Amino acid sequence: MSETLIKARGLSVGFKIGSGFFGKSILKAVDNVDIDIDKGSFFGLVGESGSGKTTLGRALLKAVPITGGSAHYTDGEVDYDLTTLAGPELKDYRKRAQLIFQDPYAALSPRMTVRDIIAEPLEVMGLTKTREETDARVREIAAKCRLNLEHLRRFPHAFSGGQRQRISIARALVSGPKFVVADESVAALDVSIQADVLNLLKELQRDLKITFLFISHDLSVVAHTCDHLAVMYLGRLVESAPTREVFKAPRHPYTRALFSAIPSLDPDDRGTAQKLEGEIPSPTNQPPGCKFHTRCPFAVDICKRVEPKLEHPGDGHEVACHRWRELADTLVA
Ligand code: SF4
Repeated sequence: MSETLIKARGLSVGFKIGSGFFGKSILKAVDNVDIDIDKGSFFGLVGESGSGKTTLGRALLKAVPITGGSAHYTDGEVDYDLTTLAGPELKDYRKRAQLIFQDPYAALSPRMTVRDIIAEPLEVMGLTKTREETDARVREIAAKCRLNLEHLRRFPHAFSGGQRQRISIARALVSGPKFVVADESVAALDVSIQADVLNLLKELQRDLKITFLFISHDLSVVAHTCDHLAVMYLGRLVESAPTREVFKAPRHPYTRALFSAIPSLDPDDRGTAQKLEGEIPSPTNQPPGCKFHTRCPFAVDICKRVEPKLEHPGDGHEVACHRWRELADTLVA
């Protein structure tokens, strides 16, 4: 039976905005999310820009404050309550939970050598005592990330996008984290390089027993990489299931629409699937009821008034839609 590394219940992240007559209002970037990330899994989190996926990832890294609900991290050595984590325990969590950035060009200091970029977290966290020890660890993780060890003295500008992303990955992994959030980590790369970096991440997941939260706006990338998929819309989790189940039977109209956006190689595909129309509403002006009803072709009256709860239909599936049962036979994948 799989063990859970991250468990969140009713997790919310709100930001104060504005300074109107009635005082500041709260923008709920993540609202009441339940999520279980199993140890050693490659967990995909997908949604359009503005869905709250990046904020959720940052909240689980303690990079933004959790303003509601609960979140726990349990790796067998430590058990941390992420809502209250502070002081030495937060410092320790920084070694265990790391982030790989999206943009390999902006993430690396142009004035530091590759060796120094990768070594910096070790020095900041005090994980090595001597330069020899630091160098040995840098070389070890650089080799695992398929970097040429002869190039450690070079500066980032000498490298391609794919090589730079491997430097970013090495920097994120040098402290030996057990949980890594990869936020749009291949989005800035060419398609052929994307596959190379994704294969590397999968290899590192297996070899180093790392649990990945892989965040992407692109379902086609997530679907072919991850063990489990969770779909977010306007701060809510609308569907979550093992990847094979989502492929077999996506339950939520929004998930179906994301699948429709994946270009088909099938010449007989006449585009019968549901297409996603319109823009995601602003988080500052959210519609009542189901947050997807302004774009959903299946919306009925109740959808506009009552927010659907996350249901558990079986097969590890969770879905938040009033009509998922009746739509199951009619929706076309
Ligand atoms: Fe569409 Fe209604 Fe389901 Fe929301 S609850 S996804 S509006 S059918």
